[in-house]
Amino acid sequence: MKRYDAVIVGSGAAGAVMAYRLSSKGMSVLVLERGKREDPATFEHNEMEMLPRVYKNGGLQTTADLDLAIMQGCTVGGSTVVNNAIWLRADLDRLLPDWKARGADLDRARIEAAYTDLESKLRVSQIPMALANNGTSVFLRGCEALGIPARLLAHNRDECIGCGWCNYGCRYNRKTSMLVTFIPWAESHGAEVIDQCRDVRLTRRGSTIAEVSYHRLGVTETVAADRVVMCAGAIGSSDLLLRSDITQRGNVGRHFHALGGVMVTAEMPGEVDAYDKIGLTCVADVSEECVVETFFSPPGAFSITLGGWFAAHYDRMHRYTRFTQAGVMVGTDPTGRITIDRKGRTKIDLSFSKRDLDRIKKGVGTLAGIFFAAGALSVLPSTYRFIELTNPSDIHLIDEQVQHADDLLLGSAHPQGGNVICEDPSKGVVDTSFRVHGVDNLFVVDASVFPSNLWANCQATVMALSHVASDHVAA
Ligand SMILES: Cc1cc2nc3c(=O)[nH]c(=O)nc-3n(C[C@H](O)[C@H](O)[C@H](O)COP(=O)(O)OP(=O)(O)OC[C@H]3O[C@@H](n4cnc5c(N)ncnc54)[C@H](O)[C@@H]3O)c2cc1C
Ligand code: SF4
Repeated sequence: MKRYDAVIVGSGAAGAVMAYRLSSKGMSVLVLERGKREDPATFEHNEMEMLPRVYKNGGLQTTADLDLAIMQGCTVGGSTVVNNAIWLRADLDRLLPDWKARGADLDRARIEAAYTDLESKLRVSQIPMALANNGTSVFLRGCEALGIPARLLAHNRDECIGCGWCNYGCRYNRKTSMLVTFIPWAESHGAEVIDQCRDVRLTRRGSTIAEVSYHRLGVTETVAADRVVMCAGAIGSSDLLLRSDITQRGNVGRHFHALGGVMVTAEMPGEVDAYDKIGLTCVADVSEECVVETFFSPPGAFSITLGGWFAAHYDRMHRYTRFTQAGVMVGTDPTGRITIDRKGRTKIDLSFSKRDLDRIKKGVGTLAGIFFAAGALSVLPSTYRFIELTNPSDIHLIDEQVQHADDLLLGSAHPQGGNVICEDPSKGVVDTSFRVHGVDNLFVVDASVFPSNLWANCQATVMALSHVASDHVAA
């Protein structure tokens, strides 16, 4: 049986950084990825073709109650291949004391050093206004009129041409996703990356993982490793541990949470053509209770978030070029759970609490105000019932018509938790060196280890923690 210094499961933000850092220390590394390796030159500007190619479950992953759509990438490079390339450091002043109180006391200086190193390697810079879609100036104008601080975000793109198709992979190699950076860099140090691996299973003997097996194109392979590092993402890593009978006294799958929310569309008096250039560009400091970011997407994804039914929806879509959009997100409490149901299916339980819903509604109201202040003719929140606000005095309709989570079309691209860090083995899955309690050679290093919500786009912090964790794993 072939033996490696490290087997890494998952090749996204965490897995790619881990693979590079371990292989550059001279270790033999095998990366097992469930998705297919794609050639960026074949990425099409065609949503129907790309969704099943690069998204987990073809983009149809939801919570068990169907209230929340959860988007994740499933391809070599993971979600970084389909993400919006926004680079946001977490607010460590707020986050680290909260994590410490939950039993996860992490070294701030090491995380900050990791951010800095990654920012240089991934060519992080501020999004230039010239590449921001035209909805950006509408949004900034509205924020300025209301005295709400707003700013362009930083991103990891290099010589982007602003085609606006980031969520389906960059065919021009301008987004510095893991597919075109840390994965090939790891390979140049000797790492092996195997795609299309199904049914990865860990075999535990005593306090070590003795073997890792997987199916690939009809053949079962088994390898051994001195270290196994789970980087299959939130949901994926919990799912795989549970299927390998590693439950950690029921803690695997617990404390799942998400940063998610709803889109709000505004119709402007003239053509905006927000479709051109980068879709996600700005954040506004609306309140500490929600995150408000601009967004715009190609027509398929846009139509899902637009709201309205049948003829009303058809009529709205005809005005696609006049719309601009932004989203309101909240970080849920870590009360969700990943389990395997009696039919062997992955079950994701997560409910938005009344407090979450109230925060979203308040954020939607503020966002509607921003759009009206910028001159919007109407504001269309993404609701189950048809709501069209035509002036600021209509904003109260949101409160009246939205009573339950399923009155909104909720989505998240930032699932977190499920294998949280906590020094107390009765409460968490991994310790502060990212090692699974009681298993000498098993680590978890992805978004599933976050003890509580980041309240920010996650990739920078996932990569930074993987950077820090790689030293523990190598040691
Ligand atoms: C559409 C979209 C837009 C986003 N935009 C941004 C953004 O602009 N900025 C930002 O900061 N964040 C963004 N994110 C989130 C960010 O990309 C993720 O938080 C981050 O990539 C998570 O890293 P990860 O390593 O935990 O998981 P991923 O990057 O998702 O990697 C996990 C990998 O593991 C693989 N895997 C899962 N299960 C198995 C298994 N059983 N066996 C083998 N392999 C497995 C998956 O296929 C995947 O490749 C976005 C996400 C999406 C989906
Ligand atoms: S907007 Fe830029 S980074 Fe995104 S897909 Fe187009 S060229 Fe690539």
